[in-house]
Amino acid sequence: MKTIYFDNNATTQVAPEVFEEIKPYFADLYGNPSSMHTFGGQVGIKIRQAREKVAALLGCDPAEIIFTGCGTEGDNTAIKGTLAAHPNRRKIITTRVEHPAVLSVCRDYENLGYLIVELSVDKKGRLDLAELESHLDDNTAIVTIMYANNETGVVFPIEKIAEMVKSKGIIFHTDAVQAVGKIPINLSTSNIDLLSISGHKLHAPKGVGVLYVRKGTRLTPFMLGGHQEGGRRAGTENVPGIIGLGKACELAMQNFEQENKKVKFLRDKLEKGIISKCSDCMVNGDEENRLPNTANISFEFIEGESILLMLDRFGICASSGSACTSGSLEPSHVLRAMGIPYTAAHGSIRFSLSRYNTEQEVDFTIEKIPPIISRLRELSPFVKK
Ligand code: PLP
Repeated sequence: MKTIYFDNNATTQVAPEVFEEIKPYFADLYGNPSSMHTFGGQVGIKIRQAREKVAALLGCDPAEIIFTGCGTEGDNTAIKGTLAAHPNRRKIITTRVEHPAVLSVCRDYENLGYLIVELSVDKKGRLDLAELESHLDDNTAIVTIMYANNETGVVFPIEKIAEMVKSKGIIFHTDAVQAVGKIPINLSTSNIDLLSISGHKLHAPKGVGVLYVRKGTRLTPFMLGGHQEGGRRAGTENVPGIIGLGKACELAMQNFEQENKKVKFLRDKLEKGIISKCSDCMVNGDEENRLPNTANISFEFIEGESILLMLDRFGICASSGSACTSGSLEPSHVLRAMGIPYTAAHGSIRFSLSRYNTEQEVDFTIEKIPPIISRLRELSPFVKK
């Protein structure tokens, strides 16, 4: 049975071009980029080139790129490194819909006596910028707000937010793990100080990420040890991962508009096809400001997990929440923050597409879903028969 992969916000297929590029670094070219000899030095050159490619996609200086182990590390480093560098400021502002890589770090600081402000969202998952502005003060060390939501795809007005935060002299971090490669980002014209990326969300391997740190931003290193990454992140580099991420950024740049247009067309077709054929279902999130690849749909009165199991029989992979929250019986914290009723939040499914999906896959899925939903509703104790 062929796999139909609609779970790209959880992780993506490594691009074949990326795989080809990194193969030699697992086998023949195993040198340490910090070595003095030519054998290691040639690897160092490839890392420099990868840094340039990431910087080109983001519109920043290569010196502003720190390679990390994952998106979670970038988020942790941004928050912890900023708080350590500004010990007199004791307040963090974030949102209720962040990924746990941000939210759990902030809540941990609450236990250490910090004041944490978690901004609310409306029923479409949108922020109220006046609420944000009312909390900015001299005690605020960092504002950390995601670029795009991993569950609903809702995109926040990050440039506007960064400008507002910067005008008060406060550090601004954004978790752009879901945004990079899907929507344009240009750091050369932005007020963002810190931005995190994860390789495996944009067709690079797992185990690599980036933290962008604007020149002049004070950040205490999180990992101490050797002099890698200019002393800002110790540890021997994940050479194939970094080279792969560089290649993935190059690919994202080459085909940016064309591919995201295609992905949006497929997402819209899938979403409309499902909504038009199933009763009592709705799209979650701000349809006007959304990633082109994400559809989050609630099917009333049934469990998302049951839908997933039935889709799985046809080889269709989707998700019933973020990769990290599925497995728990609690409905997603993001949908709860949006005030989605429990009966709908429990039956929510996220479809997240990539450049590798096809129209045939979308058509096949649109055909399979309505009978699944009808069957589950017949079994549901919440549906009047
Ligand atoms: N931030 C967001 C918005 C995410 O979606 C994810 C992963 O799902 C992460 C952070 C964590 O990234 P990583 O898996 O690379 O640690």
